Amino acid sequence: MTSFANKGLSALDHGEARVARAPASEFVGYGKAPFDGAPPLLPNGRQSAYLPRSKRGEPGVKSYSIGVIGIGKITQDQHLPVIAKDPRFRLAGLVSQRGLQQPDVPTFRTPAELYAALPDLDAVAICTPPSVRHAIAREALDAGKHVLLEKPPAPTMAEMNDLTSYAAARGKVIFATWHSQYNAAVDEAKKRLAGKKIRSLHIEWKEDVRRWHPGQEWIWDAGNFGVFDPGINALSIFTKIMPAPAFVKSADLVYPANRDTPIAASLVLTSLACENAASRLTAEFDWRQEGDQSWNINVATGDGVALRLTHGGSKLLVDGALTVEAPMAEYEGIYRHFAELLDAGRGAMDAAPFQLVADAFLVGRRTTTEAFVW
Ligand code: NAP
Repeated sequence: MTSFANKGLSALDHGEARVARAPASEFVGYGKAPFDGAPPLLPNGRQSAYLPRSKRGEPGVKSYSIGVIGIGKITQDQHLPVIAKDPRFRLAGLVSQRGLQQPDVPTFRTPAELYAALPDLDAVAICTPPSVRHAIAREALDAGKHVLLEKPPAPTMAEMNDLTSYAAARGKVIFATWHSQYNAAVDEAKKRLAGKKIRSLHIEWKEDVRRWHPGQEWIWDAGNFGVFDPGINALSIFTKIMPAPAFVKSADLVYPANRDTPIAASLVLTSLACENAASRLTAEFDWRQEGDQSWNINVATGDGVALRLTHGGSKLLVDGALTVEAPMAEYEGIYRHFAELLDAGRGAMDAAPFQLVADAFLVGRRTTTEAFVW
């Protein structure tokens, strides 16, 4: 299986990590001047990428005010720049425990402060670690806000289901995002597999945790998924392209001796679309891969076609020939879809990728490996 160097590509989980830091003294709450001549406070000189711009929407097309909760790596890499250029959204406020800011947008320490200060806010995007999302999402729904959830949507299926029904009962839109699904190559693979039998499928999602998640201690806490944090991206592609439901048959989960989430996992899956009993569906997730990194899915159909999705789902090869290679625009697709859902007053809580991870933990055999230290 070909692997590739990281440079210049890949699944959105894999932009170089930039851990935001701002001392508490730099916090400026709503109602105080956000700037006093000091430089913008979001870190690493990336502010200009998401300075609010004047955005002209189409006449007659509604735009939505949105707050973002949790100003970590993915918020800085994707949510803020994408919101800044999307005419359907206006960034109205940030919630940051550390008080991170950007020009002309108020920062609050808690969601409650955001809702009190901006009662007309339409929606929030919750970009915290998954283990704390349920309470934050319920609080948002209680405040009458529509909700966008980063992946994975919650730490447990029950919490995800609760959010789905709680949002419906309150007439609010809730949207569980799976960013890897928003790729033209993934759409094309789905189209080509429709109605097909699957002879074999292999997911290879191997990367270096020290490179992509430096210092993110939360990924090792129970409820935050470990290697399934990136692995669920592969499974979200898998559940999208499979022509029929799939199930986890067995799982081997490898835990560092000093951690509560796995560093590697091997799954055996099956599907109603399998060609026959000999069809083999497997997945390998590993956070210990140094050097070239691998985010690939290979599929062979019953009628002899070979599909290969590479680069986190952004490239598709069919029988060895490059068929789709589109620039990555996953979060642009997420916010486009969120606007459509808001226009329609419809929620979208696709539980399929999450169900497979939950089932892997249910049927998984646990083994222990050497302790992990950064
Ligand atoms: P991160 O850099 O650690 O950022 C998470 C942020 O959430 C923190 O910086 C903090 O921001 C806030 N936070 C942390 N603990 C919190 C708590 N207990 N309560 C409330 N807020 C808390 O993590 P990340 O990489 O952005 O990942 C966040 C989520 O996005 C994960 O579910 C991940 O799977 C998903 N995601 C990540 C990537 C990626 O490339 N990293 C890509 C796609 C999806 P403040 O100090 O500002 O409050």
